[in-house]
Amino acid sequence: MIHAVYPGSFDPVTNGHIDIILRARRIFEDLTVAVACNPSKTNLFTPAERVEMIREVVRTIDAEVHVDSFNGLLVNYAKTIGAAVIVRGLRALSDFEFEYQLSLMNRRLQPDIQMVYLMSGADVTYLSSGLVKEVASLGGDISELVPDAVKHRLLQRLGK
Ligand code: ADP
Repeated sequence: MIHAVYPGSFDPVTNGHIDIILRARRIFEDLTVAVACNPSKTNLFTPAERVEMIREVVRTIDAEVHVDSFNGLLVNYAKTIGAAVIVRGLRALSDFEFEYQLSLMNRRLQPDIQMVYLMSGADVTYLSSGLVKEVASLGGDISELVPDAVKHRLLQRLGK
């Protein structure tokens, strides 16, 4: 059984992330979704809140995954939890350059961990947490973009 980790900011988790979680889960029986505690990024939700929202959402979609958070280097975290694979999602070409760099750097740091890239469904491929936050803050409807529980937390946090 191969253990895979799907890392990201998840600030907050969107239907695009969920699409990748479900696809990854079809390949890897043992999947950990890991929230990166990156202090250099300004996030709307704390790592604990992001973990809590992902846990709530995976419960409702019946996906058996572990949800965790980590500090420091992703490859070190992956090694610590015994994950041999890192899953990332790919949207348009714009993601490719950064992900390509990341994958080569990770390989240099930890050659025995493989990066696996999954493409999300066409209906959610344009989604990003940033875009969802922007639309929500401007009063747009985000019902189709994030799970209900996330929508409520987001609108509350934005004072809507
Ligand atoms: P990061 O800050 O590490 O980019 P994100 O939370 O933005 O974290 O995304 C985590 C991972 O999920 C990244 O690999 C990202 O490309 C992928 N991802 C996010 N949204 C989508 C989407 N709509 N379709 C496919 N992959 C996505």
